[in-house]
This record gives sequence, C-alpha cells and structure tokens, in this order.
Amino acid sequence: MFNKIISGSIALSLVLLAGPASAMPNHQTAELSAPGTNRVLTLPTAADNSPVISLGTAIDPQSGKVVEGIAIVHPKKTYDHKPQHDAAKAGGKGGGSSCYAFLANGAKWKSVENWAINTNNNENLTGSFVFDNFAASLDKWETAGGANIFGNGAVTSDVLSADTESPDGVNEVYFGDVGSQGAIAVTIVWGIFSGPPFARELVEWDMVLDEVDFDWSATGEAGKMDYENITTHEIGHAAGMGHPDDSCLEETMYRFADYGETKKRDLNAGDIAGIDKLY
Ligand SMILES: [Zn+2]
Repeated sequence: MFNKIISGSIALSLVLLAGPASAMPNHQTAELSAPGTNRVLTLPTAADNSPVISLGTAIDPQSGKVVEGIAIVHPKKTYDHKPQHDAAKAGGKGGGSSCYAFLANGAKWKSVENWAINTNNNENLTGSFVFDNFAASLDKWETAGGANIFGNGAVTSDVLSADTESPDGVNEVYFGDVGSQGAIAVTIVWGIFSGPPFARELVEWDMVLDEVDFDWSATGEAGKMDYENITTHEIGHAAGMGHPDDSCLEETMYRFADYGETKKRDLNAGDIAGIDKLY
C-alpha cells in the first residue's frame, strides 16, 4: 500500500492566475480571490449544454505536448435532465453490461504526480479530515486499479487556481464557487484523449468543490453534500473515469449526486471493473 503523507516540506511553486495567455478565444479565466472569500470558477458554456465542457488545447508545460482540457461538472440531480452526454459514449462503456466509462479509452496516468489541497473551508470540516479523507479516497481507486495512480498530497495555504486555459503543472484541490448552476463540484482534466489509445495519457487534474451553493458534511447529513461521497466520484474523473450509462444508478461514477448521499463513498462493481481495466 501507499502512504499518503503530508509533506509540509514540499515547496509548491504555484503560478497563480498568471498562466500564459491562451490563443483560444471564447475561454474565460478563472476568477479567484483568497480562500474563505468569494471565489468563482467561471467555465465556458458547453456547446450542447452537456456537463462536459471542452477547454480547448494548450501546451503541457512539463512535457511540451499539446494537450486537451475538459471540465466535468457534477450536478445535483434536480438541475440537469439532459440526455446522457457524449463523454461516456466516446470513452466506451466497456464490455457487455459493465457499468463504467472512460474519459477516453487509454487516457490514464503514465507517471505519478503529487497533488496539493487547500483545506480551508466554511463548512466546519477540519483540515486534517479534508486531507486525510481525500487521501484515503485516492487509495480506494488505486487499490481497485491495482496501480499507483496518484502521488503524495500536500496541504497548502496558497490560493489555488483550477486551470481552464492551460495546465500549470500542479494538481490542485480546493473549496470555492463554481459559476455553473447546480454544480456541486468540477474536475478539470488535461491530457491526450484522441489518437491511438496507447499514445493517450493524462497530464493534470484540478478539482473545485462548490461551498457557496452547497453545504458540506463529513457525516452524510441531510441537506448537505457528503464530502467523501462527492470527492470519491471526482477522484474517479482525475484517474480517467467517465460517467457510465444513466441506468447505472449504484456506481460511484453515476453522474448525479444529492444531499445526504453516501453510497458513492464505496466503489461499486462497475467502478472497480473499469479502473482495473484502465490500469
Ligand atoms: Zn462526474
């Protein structure tokens, strides 16, 4: 097993709100201020109003490769009645009746990268809980996949910024405000999602948990989003998992969540089969 250790000594050199100007038009910049204050992640509007938003292409600063960005919005049940979006179709459902999908077949982590979390929140969740629980949820996916997918985490007090224009080389998690109606959380993943599957890969992920429109709980309280329930789902995206067919109600990767729900904390058969196949 892998030990996720708080590495306070890891020096995170974060490029905040200062990424290189993108050549892409029509993409808005994330607007963030200090943790604990009003921070809004503004995403471009998806052409088809799907919960998967294309962020266009950019250069990965670490590899120099051209990569594509996608933002996967996790909506509360009542806000979205659109048909199944295209990501699961594009990624494939796997064989037979398997309840899983990939962001794109073969698009997975090929190197282990560390991650940073700003545990600051207005939800009365302790920093140690926010970090430890998140690390434990990463472990669930790694155990199911039989692979070391994610590196070590570090708690930071730096203002983090989910990267909507180009990756910055840091995998970031924080509480904020997602400027899309009904969005509980958003995970942004940068990678190569097309071309031969063997040449596909993931290069960065960022995650924003909306604490402005939703309250959060450590214990599955009614009227609040359960932190472990939601983050376990989002981590699936960070590992390369998509949303399965809408008939797969019991999967962690089922695309909707609701107040008080805790069943996504534990990976279901389809989640496990999918991550095992991907890795
Ligand atoms: Zn999702």
